[in-house]
Amino acid sequence: MVCANTPVSGPFPVDRGFKREEAATRPWMPTFTDLSRAAFCPRQLYYARRDGDDGPPETARARQRLAFEYASLREASDARLRAEPIDLAPSDYRTALDRLAGRDDWSALCEPRSTHVALEGKDCHGRVHKLIDTADGVVPTLVSPGSPPEHGVWEPQQVRAVAAAKALSWERGESVPRALVEYPAHAVVRTVRLTTRAKATYRRALRAVRALDGPPPRLRDTSKCRACDFRTQCGVRTRSMRSLLGL
Ligand code: SF4
Repeated sequence: MVCANTPVSGPFPVDRGFKREEAATRPWMPTFTDLSRAAFCPRQLYYARRDGDDGPPETARARQRLAFEYASLREASDARLRAEPIDLAPSDYRTALDRLAGRDDWSALCEPRSTHVALEGKDCHGRVHKLIDTADGVVPTLVSPGSPPEHGVWEPQQVRAVAAAKALSWERGESVPRALVEYPAHAVVRTVRLTTRAKATYRRALRAVRALDGPPPRLRDTSKCRACDFRTQCGVRTRSMRSLLGL
């Protein structure tokens, strides 16, 4: 399940992924981040392209790094866990890691076949945080610095995951039926399957990127805008919690 109209929780509206996504051999191709932004708000993508994007801040990257330390975090003391940028109490985090360790792909998540891999597909390019070996073949994983929704993943992350799976499939010439999104600050990993609906959402984002020619309209549902870095220059009026509650 994907949370389609809900802002990405945690400190960042869009998982921007990497500091810089390397230029593709076809530089006009959109990046995974472009697609993710377009799924969140095409106007935000317009501002990010116009003003440049330095990638995730250090606080976000520190949270992403947790995804490369699961095994040692599982053995870590309360004191160490309290010093890490996790969103749970140490005992709850350890319990969540124990749950994660029950997955078939636990060993692969801890010891990926490769990390920070550039992929170039037919329609887009970008980097994934890990490629892991699973019973279904090689699967790409993306690491989010934020919090997971109650079920599934946030829609911009779904689009990014589908883009990564399709690019990997294109490169390897074989089917890649799923990708993973990791939320290491919560020790949660979610699967994104390439369903008909997920691929349709991906194609919608791709069309939005390709159609970008000047600033797109502001969002009607401004719940996302409260988390947007470009809120001030966009000029969107967000309603306060007080007015939303009719107080
Ligand atoms: S403030 Fe809202 S409408 Fe404006 S760019 Fe951000 S998300 Fe889009």
